[in-house]
Amino acid sequence: MMWLSVPADTDFSIHNLPFGIFHTGDGRPRAGVAIGDHIVDLPAAADAGLFGKPRFFKKVFGQNTLNEFIGLGKPVTNRIRRKVQEWLLQPEAPANAAQLLCDRRGATMLMPVSVPNYTDFYSSIEHATNVGKMFRPDNPLLPNWRWLPVGYHGRASSIVVSGTSMRRPWGQIIPQGRETPVYAPTQQLDFELEMAFVIGKNSELGQPIPIDKADEYIFGLLLFNDWSARDIQRWEYVPLGPFLGKNFGSSVSPWIVPLEALKPFRVKGPKQTPAPLEYLQQKGRQQYDIDLEVAITPGNSGQETVISRSNTRYLYWSMAQQLAHHTVNGCNVQVGDLMASGTISGPIPGSYGSLLEMTLGGKEPILLPGGISRAFLEDGDILTLRGRAEKDGVRIGFGEVTGWISK
Ligand code: MN
Repeated sequence: MMWLSVPADTDFSIHNLPFGIFHTGDGRPRAGVAIGDHIVDLPAAADAGLFGKPRFFKKVFGQNTLNEFIGLGKPVTNRIRRKVQEWLLQPEAPANAAQLLCDRRGATMLMPVSVPNYTDFYSSIEHATNVGKMFRPDNPLLPNWRWLPVGYHGRASSIVVSGTSMRRPWGQIIPQGRETPVYAPTQQLDFELEMAFVIGKNSELGQPIPIDKADEYIFGLLLFNDWSARDIQRWEYVPLGPFLGKNFGSSVSPWIVPLEALKPFRVKGPKQTPAPLEYLQQKGRQQYDIDLEVAITPGNSGQETVISRSNTRYLYWSMAQQLAHHTVNGCNVQVGDLMASGTISGPIPGSYGSLLEMTLGGKEPILLPGGISRAFLEDGDILTLRGRAEKDGVRIGFGEVTGWISK
């Protein structure tokens, strides 16, 4: 059906069509849709009259973020996606094919959105239990955990796109055997395997978003790495929570996969006990079956090894519940806000979403090929997260989010 050939194992199939911001070395950031090894250049497509109102859409897609486009609302963004799909699903290549397509491998990806606010949840029961056990072996989950999606407000300014190097942060650390801090580079640099959703619609201050309206406010999803300095975090987090151990940087994948593309992969979430309060009660399939993996390329070997495989379906609290809870007090959300899931750990070793869990706080380093081991990340290491869903021959991928640790 499609005139353009795409690799059989591509993340960016005709069923996906994620949105991103790219340039091709010409210093002209613009919006695009990924398809196979190509990008549909949206300003060029607008110019060719693909969407109607050529001047309006050329301006919307000629910006260096997707915020204005996303803010047009789902009826518009879904229509644009369908138009791109129809353009690709012709038996013969259209005359303007060369004009509208760019080589994806020759493109540089930029931050897809300007992020007004960023919130991080803590919604994997396995992760919360694993981490809780290290501090409270008999009572890992605190009493509030099963009643509400625990979260904190993070820092939006330091969210960067995949490929950006991450400088090892310095801060206050208590060296082993001491009781007072020193100022030093973190010795416990970690990643967190997360998925984030992008807010697609402003809400009114003072107006909660009801849980059954949550999907109207979620534009799409991307991979999220919440880099964490565990030693800084451990000393500073009492009593107000994460601060400098987290806000030095977070990385996102460049392509936002629209919620519509993920419909075939919706699944029921875990049974919630006790039953949540009424504003958090939901019906139907509210979780997603998306396979996730974490890979490390140690700086001193250059060989990539997958160190964890997890899945978004392990999340206890759904995105709809997170958003309903976030706004139940009247807090408003803004287009481009990012809400990250929290570390997504599965139930068994090999499915954990952080080194903190895999190495029991650094006590049992993981072993990698070539006699290399890691308790935490070292300078020169490359850490990559990937996500992909597949069902009945339909395949949707998120690409990857990668980051390189520098001094
Ligand atoms: Mn996190």
